[in-house]
Amino acid sequence: MIEVRHSARVPRTLPDALPASTPFFASSVHPGSLLGISDLELDEVAQILTRASFLEHEDPLTRARRLAKRKIALLFYESSTRTRTSFELAAKALGADTTLVSSLSSSIEKGESLKDTGLTLRALGAEAILLRHPNSGAPWLLEQVTGLPVLNAGDGMHEHPSQALLDLRTILACLRSGVTTVAADTLSGITVTIAGDILHSRVARSNMLLLPRLGAQVQLCGPPALLPAMVAEVGPGIRIERDFDRALASSQIVMMLRIQAERLAGLQLDLDEYRRDYQLTAARLAAHAPAAHILHPGPIIRGLELTAEVADGPQSRILDQVRNGVAIRMALVERALDLHSSTVSGAAQ
Ligand code: ASP
Repeated sequence: MIEVRHSARVPRTLPDALPASTPFFASSVHPGSLLGISDLELDEVAQILTRASFLEHEDPLTRARRLAKRKIALLFYESSTRTRTSFELAAKALGADTTLVSSLSSSIEKGESLKDTGLTLRALGAEAILLRHPNSGAPWLLEQVTGLPVLNAGDGMHEHPSQALLDLRTILACLRSGVTTVAADTLSGITVTIAGDILHSRVARSNMLLLPRLGAQVQLCGPPALLPAMVAEVGPGIRIERDFDRALASSQIVMMLRIQAERLAGLQLDLDEYRRDYQLTAARLAAHAPAAHILHPGPIIRGLELTAEVADGPQSRILDQVRNGVAIRMALVERALDLHSSTVSGAAQ
């Protein structure tokens, strides 16, 4: 049995109410930003996928000149391994200068607000900000107050759009080798099961908003405490299947999720029961989904949502996801700064 309460140091509510007359870009989304996956039309998704492949294979010296001397700030109010490192490596691969501000080693610890931190980073020359924050909507607020392109690196239980794009790249590599142009039927006939703690997962939400637009059926699987029925109402093409074995049997892709202990806030779960009903084991996989591809956004908790045998097994695509993260994030960082330049020069004319 686990019972977990919030321990985050940052306030759980957004500290900065927007002033009545917000000075910057009050109503528009910056063209270089990516705040939520639905901001992107399908042709933009296709452009990002195509650009990611191009940049991944480009000569490193040529690539490193693309964003030479441009400045990018990574602002992280929650811990991160994959997202932070891959965004940083992506920006550096394009030649940009990056600086990391994390809540544990900055004036955020002294109580500085998101708004003041954002304005400070802008005054220091940051041209784009990559933000992870425990509150839903924080990237939007940051964009409004700074006027800079903001890439959402995960906001609370809301969205994680770059993860959905890298998941899509991984899924396409598994099922539609070589395909980077996506359309409304690219994944038709494909069932993707997302299993585990759906309620608290921004990864699940961004995938639920993206994959059905390409024709995939998204099947959600988990106990009612972690998957209330209303979660499936996010959009079309989403259904709930509580029986994990049945869900596996109809899936080509299975995306496992961690139980987000830091967001359970008092919710009680019987972990033995959870393992019995929802743990992905090698036996379960062999019996019900011997050909499915297994994804997980990480961090994986071996022995809880999946066994070590599955994580390290031949059906696991978990490290491919990590690698795809760098390519996708190169395309996103470049897009943020390219569109930033065109906005700035356009404004100057
Ligand atoms: N790394 C993912 C996220 O930041 C998933 C997780 O933390 O479980 O949302």
